[in-house]
Amino acid sequence: MTERIYSTDAYARAMEATIVGSDTDDGRILLDRTVFYPGGGGQPHDLGVLRLGDDVLEVVRVTQDGDGVWHWLEGSLPAVGTEVTGDIDWDRRYRLMRTHTALHALCGVVWNRFQSPVTGGNMQPGEGRLDFDIPDWKADDLPVVERELNEELARQRQVEVSFLPRDAADEDPSLIRTKVNLLPKGIQEVRVIDIVGLDRQADGGTHVGGTGEVGRISIPKAENKGRGFRRIRVRLDDEE
Ligand SMILES: [Zn+2]
Repeated sequence: MTERIYSTDAYARAMEATIVGSDTDDGRILLDRTVFYPGGGGQPHDLGVLRLGDDVLEVVRVTQDGDGVWHWLEGSLPAVGTEVTGDIDWDRRYRLMRTHTALHALCGVVWNRFQSPVTGGNMQPGEGRLDFDIPDWKADDLPVVERELNEELARQRQVEVSFLPRDAADEDPSLIRTKVNLLPKGIQEVRVIDIVGLDRQADGGTHVGGTGEVGRISIPKAENKGRGFRRIRVRLDDEE
C-alpha cells in the first residue's frame, strides 16, 4: 500500500518515492509514498510531475485501488525499483484546499440555520457546489447564508484532522448527519475533518489548516432543483 502523505499533511507538496508497481497497459505506476491526491469526495485528483534525474514526467491522472495510489504518465514507464521525486501543481491544489474547506463551512452554516444535511457536491479549483434538502428556502436566504459563511470563515477557526475507529464514528451524532453510516463496511478507521465549532465530517480530501486561509467567498446562486432540493454554488472571491 502507498503511504498517503496528503492524508496527514495537506501542505506537503513534494516527495521522494520508489516505484513499487507498474501497469504498462494503462501507462501508470504505483509509488511507495505520495503527496498526489487521487481524487474522491468531490475533490479532483492532483496534477504535477515526477522527476528522475533530468527527466520530467507529467502526471496526467491519479487514481487509487486496493494496491495503492496510481500515477498515470505519458510515454514509456520507468522500471520498478526506480527512485523518483514528485511535485504537485501547488497553486491548483491550494485553491482546491481553500474551496474544499469553504464547502465544509457552508455545510456548517446551512446545518445551523436549516438542520439540512448535504446530499451531494463537487468542486473545481476556486469554485464548487453542494446540494441540500432545504424545503423552506426563500430567495432572501441567499445573502444571509453568504454573510454568515464569510463571518464564520473570518473567525479563523482551526481545521483539524483526526482518525476515529469505525464504531466510534458510527455513533457520533455530528458525523451521522454527514452520512458516515454510508461508508463501505470494510472501512475500519474513519478520517474526520473538524472545522472546530462549526462542522465535522468524515472526509478523505485535503483542506487548509484554518478558515482564515480561505478568504472571502461569494455565493453566485442557489438553484431550485425541485422538491426542496437546493444546489448552492460558492466561489473564491480572488478567482480571476
Ligand atoms: Zn469534504
